[in-house]
Amino acid sequence: MSDTASSLPGKGGAALSVDAARLCALAAAAPVAGQEVLAIGNANGRVSAGPVAAAVNLPPFDNSAMDGYALRLSDLKGAGPWHLPVADRIPAGDGRGLALACGTALRILTGAPVPSGADAVVMQEQVTRHGGSITLTQCPAPGQNIRRRGEDMACGSTALAGGLALTPPRLALLAGCGVAHVAVRSRVRVAILSTGDELAEPGTALGPGQIYNSNRVFLRATLARQPWADLTDLGILPDDPVIIRAAIRAAAVAHDVGISSGGVSAGEEDHILDALKAEQATLDVLKVAIRPGKPLTVGRVAGALFFGLPGNPYAAAITFAQIARPALRRVAGLTEETDTWLAAVSGFSYGRTTGRREYVPVRWDNRDAMGRPVLQRLGQGASASLSPMAQAMGIAVIPPDMAFVQPGQTLSVEPLFE
Ligand code: AMP
Ligand code: MG
Repeated sequence: MSDTASSLPGKGGAALSVDAARLCALAAAAPVAGQEVLAIGNANGRVSAGPVAAAVNLPPFDNSAMDGYALRLSDLKGAGPWHLPVADRIPAGDGRGLALACGTALRILTGAPVPSGADAVVMQEQVTRHGGSITLTQCPAPGQNIRRRGEDMACGSTALAGGLALTPPRLALLAGCGVAHVAVRSRVRVAILSTGDELAEPGTALGPGQIYNSNRVFLRATLARQPWADLTDLGILPDDPVIIRAAIRAAAVAHDVGISSGGVSAGEEDHILDALKAEQATLDVLKVAIRPGKPLTVGRVAGALFFGLPGNPYAAAITFAQIARPALRRVAGLTEETDTWLAAVSGFSYGRTTGRREYVPVRWDNRDAMGRPVLQRLGQGASASLSPMAQAMGIAVIPPDMAFVQPGQTLSVEPLFE
């Protein structure tokens, strides 16, 4: 999805489009160099470090897809029905390596090795059995109900490319191919820190002028769901330029990625930018045409990627999801894009100021005739609000130049947070 409104980079001037900002953040991200070898049972959600070859054929031998009878098509001469004596029985796991004698059938169960000489398995429902023989009236097709050796994955071929998340289906494939251990990228060491003299932790009493820290638990919980992330929580920092600079340095030196919230605006208690500059950070994104979310900082400092997210919780959540998360995925070594948006249709009217791509929390109770969700807007777009995003089923994306959202307008919706 691209925005039609043009956007130019620049500190004081026009803001970057969300797509351009995401590309800047991606360009500043490099995959972690380290790797480790894990048992597949411990690798859920980790990132493959390189291609993984199948150690055996999948399936390892020709086997039956059905409970039935293995036979030789050349024994079915002329017009049916045909009668064949049943010579033996082959259950799954039978290692005898039986051969099919001419003019006979073998009782075979699902997953059992197909005897040599057999070229079809007839389902038991398609034959009549009387004592030691069967009668069939329909001639099976060659190879019917036989799962061929290596048809799912051939031994030595690439079962999994590098740069992929080890999802449950992919782990299952590796298991089936006889791969017990897999090389994965080292986990991304991520440090998070909250800034603000006004912040108190839930569980403590609020002093005058204080609010509870919601960004900390949000970032912790979001990153804890990524098995490739190794989180360090540096807690709350006061609005003190010296302390913030030291914390940013410490975070950058010992981690691959630092993420702060708050202190990135132009107020006199916003110290993140000055601290980053003092640490010779290369700052890649300063202003982004995103609502909620402006301002936001992305850069590299002391070898680490650093994101200065806004303090307002909804803005922090959206900028994390839209700009920081794709770059974090790249640091993790992931090469797959996530493309999970849905086509939806607005069920609300909304007049807005143009110029920024807007992320609107939405719910839907019904779908239109084409199956698209009919969206209801939640909240008033306030970047400090927590309730709308907590109630949302997804986030609708409004292009920068759309001044009015009419009911019936098609919009894309993204899942809120995976
Ligand atoms: P700042 O970017 O530091 O100016 O913060 C913008 C707004 O977000 C202010 O109203 C802050 O009180 C609020 N805020 C900053 N950090 C947090 C946080 N960790 N949790 C909840 N609200 C915050
Ligand atoms: Mg602040």
